[in-house]
Amino acid sequence: MIKSNPFKYSDDNKRYHTLNYHYKKKFNNKVFKVVLDAGFSCPHIKNGVGGCTFCSIRGSGDFTLNASVALNKQYEHQKQIMLRKWPQGQPIAYFQAFTNTYAALDTLKIIYDPFYENQYDNLGVALGTRADCLSDATIAYFDQQARGKPTTIEIGVQSIHERTNQIINRGHGLDVVEKILKQCATKQFDVVLHLINGLPYEDKAMMLESAKWVARQPVAGVKIHMLHLLKGTKMANDYLKNPFDLLSMEQFIDIVIGQLEVLPPEMVIHRLTGDGLVDDLIGPLWTIKKRVVLNNLDKEMVKRNTYQGKYHASY
Ligand code: SF4
Repeated sequence: MIKSNPFKYSDDNKRYHTLNYHYKKKFNNKVFKVVLDAGFSCPHIKNGVGGCTFCSIRGSGDFTLNASVALNKQYEHQKQIMLRKWPQGQPIAYFQAFTNTYAALDTLKIIYDPFYENQYDNLGVALGTRADCLSDATIAYFDQQARGKPTTIEIGVQSIHERTNQIINRGHGLDVVEKILKQCATKQFDVVLHLINGLPYEDKAMMLESAKWVARQPVAGVKIHMLHLLKGTKMANDYLKNPFDLLSMEQFIDIVIGQLEVLPPEMVIHRLTGDGLVDDLIGPLWTIKKRVVLNNLDKEMVKRNTYQGKYHASY
């Protein structure tokens, strides 16, 4: 424990509420995510509107085995990889790629039930989706399942600004997100929101406004991504014809610190850097150096003597 750290939700040098700290407190153990691809697609792509312009063919997913591999084989394979790093760790099943509620409830049950019925040794379930792809029945299903096993539903927001959401072809407005958040507020699962920093033509003030909006929502956590400009995406093609400013690492760190300062200290920061596919990355190339980004962020927070929630009313 570093005594000079004024942030109370930390047992190391971090001045923000890390997911690692949250898991340690909740499960009394090291917990890791086993990333799975259940073969979902995305309604936003399928409906002929082209999808979000930054979205790669992998549906903004992480490094998973192909969905053609059975889920039980994916689970074992990914778990063994993680156990090599953390032999004592325990898994959470994480459905990340595309929109993981984009199916009829009967199909969702076939996919998710085994992860709630102790056919696997996962401590919990986490999944990413869109606000416009959560039906009442789906919400009720996960509400019920979350009573037996911790469940997290991640919902993409990316930006609260209408103009940006048109530029990136987000496909729904903030009103849709706000409506679903109200509905989920009383449910047993946690909600985690996603923001992306560095979207085209957004400045620091706009990104801070998005974070301030997140701070007011009834959610347990947030993921803050840096935009990855990936080869083959519509955004990359637009950028090559008509470049917009990409954030430097220093700008990103400055903006993230401002965002952390306005978020409630209890809100869990699920991620501050992403894992872009290096071979596909057009920019910003500094995002490959995740450890450097996080170390520099920590140092800058110490230098500024700041921490998550410094300017939030609850701290
Ligand atoms: S909602 Fe997600 S999966 Fe669908 S197009 Fe947008 S980023 Fe891609």
